[in-house]
Amino acid sequence: MSKAKPKRTLTLPLVALAIFLPLLAACGKPGDSSGGSGAAAGGGAAGKDNDQFVKFAQCLRQNGVPQWPDPVDGKFRIRPGSVDPNSPQVKAAAQKCKSSRPLVASAPSRSSAEVGPPTRPISRQARLTRPTRLDEGDGVIPDGVAVSVFDEERPAVGKLAPDLLDALRRAATDAEADGVEFRVNSGWRSPKYQQRLLQDAVVKYGSPEEAARWVSTPQTSAHVKGEGVDIGPKDAAAWLSEHGAPYGLCQIYRNEPWHYELRPDAVVGGCPPLYADPTEDPRMRR
Ligand SMILES: [Zn+2]
Repeated sequence: MSKAKPKRTLTLPLVALAIFLPLLAACGKPGDSSGGSGAAAGGGAAGKDNDQFVKFAQCLRQNGVPQWPDPVDGKFRIRPGSVDPNSPQVKAAAQKCKSSRPLVASAPSRSSAEVGPPTRPISRQARLTRPTRLDEGDGVIPDGVAVSVFDEERPAVGKLAPDLLDALRRAATDAEADGVEFRVNSGWRSPKYQQRLLQDAVVKYGSPEEAARWVSTPQTSAHVKGEGVDIGPKDAAAWLSEHGAPYGLCQIYRNEPWHYELRPDAVVGGCPPLYADPTEDPRMRR
């Protein structure tokens, strides 16, 4: 429909992405929203939304982008040559104007040359806590289900690294003779599952920094690599703490007495000193 339109304004996906990228990044995966309910092309501006756009434009102008236009019908129309939405100045200003930045529900996928206001703003909190479809295929262990190290049909167990699984099974067999039963509380996790845990931790602990003490990213997590396992209950973790080294099974973090990884050298030399928490682990630094 806009095919015949003269090229008076910049194409938008780029513009919108440049401006809204920080927001989208802070809110997790933008592509998840199925409905695309947010930015319908040509949707009229509700008064409140338009106010947001006006405030945002004012803020950009006050922060180093004097030529940023006011919204027209709740949309920013950027004339070529007037301002480069991809410039560092615009990005820096957009960052400073975070609080007045209009919310967008998803990355615009339309080819229109206009940014429209959202029809239904989605709060950051709502986005973070919105249910993601995760199941056993992601390594989730359903509540109340006791999973043993021998339940290899469950991805959480079956996708653990073979040498870790082998060590766990030998240890579990010997522990059983001592009357102690191992349960896998968490094993292999998909990157999606790990990302969800991280998002939940940011909400729970209030900041990414504090969350990092407890939950790794999908890129750094030993669970995602199949190289970490959380063992319960307490007496099983205690058994491993005492007897794990000859199997190469070591606790890594002082704040996670349940988390074990394979350290083959431990069979001879014992387990390495503990890190206080994951932030001390060089592997976790990006
Ligand atoms: Zn763990």
